[in-house]
Amino acid sequence: MPEHFMVKLPSDGVNYVKHFLICKKCNAKLAEGSTKVVKCTECGLSQLKASCKTKIIASIMSLNDKNESLNLTLFNEVIEKLYIVYQGQNPGSVKEFKQLTEDEIIEMLLTVEVCVLFNEKNNVIKVLDY
Ligand SMILES: [Zn+2]
Repeated sequence: MPEHFMVKLPSDGVNYVKHFLICKKCNAKLAEGSTKVVKCTECGLSQLKASCKTKIIASIMSLNDKNESLNLTLFNEVIEKLYIVYQGQNPGSVKEFKQLTEDEIIEMLLTVEVCVLFNEKNNVIKVLDY
């Protein structure tokens, strides 16, 4: 296997998309309830849910030319870049990245046309428009 490798999206499948809220003060993951206010269990900071930072992790499955499946994890910054490319390809997508639902992110990952360059540790180095 080469050190760096390129994966062409759209992906063949999405294993999962996880969406969570992050504490403004300590960046811990916040438990989401139905209330407007969430309290961080790590540092105790109470904050408005609507103003919290969100973080998204997605696991995609890609088939290579030998039909072997490769599972890759994408983090927030990368997914956001993919969404920018996606918006260019789908002018109707005017939603802010933060407001996307998990289903919309899955659909985006299954339709966006882009190349992603990974390093040997399966971390994304670059998103390349094509
Ligand atoms: Zn906190």
